[in-house]
Amino acid sequence: MTRLLRGRLLWFAADPEEAGEGAHRYVEDGAILVADGLVRQAGEAAALLASVPEGTPVEDHRPHLILPGFIDPHIHFPQTQVIASYGAQLLDWLQKYTFVEEQKFADPEHCAGNAKFFFDELLRNGTTTAVAFCSVHAPSAEAFFAEAARRNLLMLGGKVLMDRNAPEALRDTPQRGYDETKALIGKWHKRGRQLYAIAPRFAITSSEAQLEAAGALAREHPDCHVETHLCENRAEIALVKELFPWSRDYTDVYEHYGLMRRNTLLGHCIHLSARERAAIAERGSVAVFCPTSNLFIGSGLFDWRAMRAAGGRIGLATDVGGGTSYSMLQTAAEAYKVLQLQGQNLPALTAFHAMTRGNAAALGLGDRIGSFEPGRACDAVVLDTGATPAMAHRMQTVATLEEELFVLMTMGTERNVAATYVMGERASVAGAGKPDGSGATSSAGRKGRA
Ligand SMILES: [Zn+2]
Repeated sequence: MTRLLRGRLLWFAADPEEAGEGAHRYVEDGAILVADGLVRQAGEAAALLASVPEGTPVEDHRPHLILPGFIDPHIHFPQTQVIASYGAQLLDWLQKYTFVEEQKFADPEHCAGNAKFFFDELLRNGTTTAVAFCSVHAPSAEAFFAEAARRNLLMLGGKVLMDRNAPEALRDTPQRGYDETKALIGKWHKRGRQLYAIAPRFAITSSEAQLEAAGALAREHPDCHVETHLCENRAEIALVKELFPWSRDYTDVYEHYGLMRRNTLLGHCIHLSARERAAIAERGSVAVFCPTSNLFIGSGLFDWRAMRAAGGRIGLATDVGGGTSYSMLQTAAEAYKVLQLQGQNLPALTAFHAMTRGNAAALGLGDRIGSFEPGRACDAVVLDTGATPAMAHRMQTVATLEEELFVLMTMGTERNVAATYVMGERASVAGAGKPDGSGATSSAGRKGRA
């Protein structure tokens, strides 16, 4: 099936922090030629319209922006009813809210219902790939992957491994966690677009024996990702020091068990020593910045500049339910504020790169998603930058693309998402508001070329 998506195209071919102005590609009247779900070509609409057979469907989204679908490299599938829980910092927040809610995921029906909601919500926000922690229960990962596969989404996830410092109903054992993870990898890893992430929740909730088992899983499955949390909160770090008295620091715990490698995603990375930053950079692991969560749970400020200076790779993520929004636009807005508080800046092009190509590169999936270079999956988000009266009003004064993008990330929400595409198909989302009228289909021919 061949079709064209027409609109203002924006994507990145390089990192603006390295390549500057030359990093992005912007086509004012652009089109993407999609065949079999993949981008064949992206460029000037006039040239592409002239090149396709007459009658090729054209979905016209002008004047909206079309970007690669957003990528969220750290989110918790079982926390859709934990988001916005009041008044606690990390360790209390886990005990008081999260560990209560996650127990419900022992029930496969609860998992299935939540999976539908979860992916609807991601798509409503223009997010087409995410890396999720499921609950400790294997059925939660089953439901996660089954629903993602049904929608043909490229998703990464894993059941969390946790065998201590949690209620009994949320504890596995080193052997059970290993066996269940092994079975889930066998069933889901690389099945369709699904990828498995081995998920020791964090050092506090795993015994040494379980971290050994997680390390064994990582060794046996070098192409699976590893997802966990690191140095989010000071009380957490103190407890890790007590639990692992032999360790040089928190990062050393994961290093010791063979869990720090290039496809390791480390949520938060706030309170790090210079040694830890250097270790993360040396091993090529990814520090995942979760600004709405870090502000909401009062964890601290991620130091982007220090991580980049150390040569470290960075991802940008929501961390729902510690995070307060599913929107990567809102996430970028809070990232900007966190950096402002430290005398740093986050230019709009850097932020939009992070949400798309940057996060794809952080996942090692830059050859598959995150841009409109030929051969990538056509996962895309259509953004109406004037979707609210306040935004439309503000946009009247905007003179450049960078200004427009900065207003979009600062004021934007899911209301700005006019459509989301998965493998070139427009995703239907339960409970979506009325369509904005863009995306009307015509066909290439005399009319389409006019
Ligand atoms: Zn998290």
